[in-house]
Amino acid sequence: MVGPERAAGVLAERLTRRLAAQPGGPEAVTDPVGWLRGRGLPRSSPCTDARCDEGSLMHTGAACERCADLLADRRQRRTRVSGQVRAELPDADSETRRQAVEHGLREVVTADLARDEQRRRQAAEAAAARAAAAQRAWAKAEVAERVRRARPCRRCGAPEAGGLCGVCRAQEETETLIRQAVAAAVAGSGRPVDSGAAAALAADAEAAMRIRVQHAYDQTRKGGGNELSAAVAGRLAAESLLHECRRSALQALGHGPEAEEEAGQARAAQWRRRHLHRTVEAAEQAAEAAGREARERTAEHLLAVRSSAWLAAQTPAALVEEPGPRGQAAAYAAGAARAVHRASRPAPAAEAPVRTRENASAGYRRALAVLTALRR
Ligand SMILES: [Zn+2]
Ligand SMILES: [Zn+2]
Repeated sequence: MVGPERAAGVLAERLTRRLAAQPGGPEAVTDPVGWLRGRGLPRSSPCTDARCDEGSLMHTGAACERCADLLADRRQRRTRVSGQVRAELPDADSETRRQAVEHGLREVVTADLARDEQRRRQAAEAAAARAAAAQRAWAKAEVAERVRRARPCRRCGAPEAGGLCGVCRAQEETETLIRQAVAAAVAGSGRPVDSGAAAALAADAEAAMRIRVQHAYDQTRKGGGNELSAAVAGRLAAESLLHECRRSALQALGHGPEAEEEAGQARAAQWRRRHLHRTVEAAEQAAEAAGREARERTAEHLLAVRSSAWLAAQTPAALVEEPGPRGQAAAYAAGAARAVHRASRPAPAAEAPVRTRENASAGYRRALAVLTALRR
């Protein structure tokens, strides 16, 4: 309880104390080993605090509060019983009264013990019931988890995939990221989200992104990666594409007319409060900072609003289209084909000529050019 460094000291004190308290002194101990085991060494405390020995705490030496409470309880009990005996036997002599008090105390102690035992039993029963309920809940959850894990992948049908296998999960996440990245590209372009120009730009951007994702996938496969690690590599590529698109969109929107206007107003408002600054330079700096913040805020706002508008304007059918059990490469190719197909519908011919996979290399060059321009 006190650690190995202090244990020897605590035990030495304990033995000294108990030898001194031994009736007849140390010489009265005739069986040293028996005395050490029975009386000298064991911790002696009526309370439940394991650090307590004879009413004081071993690690601090302070009086044990729990023991003090126990002692106070006992005194209270004795006072109460004495009061009762005095009231019941007002004319009894002191010896009769003492016996009556002892008898009353024994009864109270017995009753207390019985009550404590009853409480202990009830607590044990409650604990057992709680443990049983927890056990039942755990078993139920275990069954549910087994059932969940046994479910096949809802996309590719792979068995025991927990409803969605790792490859399909990565593919789904990749699709979501690509959609968000395309939305950011459209939002940053400043073209109205329902225009053919926006649709054309989206198709080009999406095709370029799919090439990047496919490249990441192919590289991983070539390097010996399995289907899952390749799918995850594709998702990581899509993540960085989204990041790039958001960054360029924020840059573009931050220099658009809306942001310029907001920045100008914020700068002017701050400049009107220039008397609050000690120097002209400080006032100018504050005005510049206010303008910068307004510009960034406006760009963030426009990006969020226009991205959402673009995503909402896309047909839900195209968003939930299932690639089916055809493998990763086919999935990306199909996605790219869909992107080209979508663009060919609303876009005017001059902006987005209908492209097929036959002239894919021209499409590839153009997509790269668009992506480069987007990044700029
Ligand atoms: Zn104690
Ligand atoms: Zn799957």
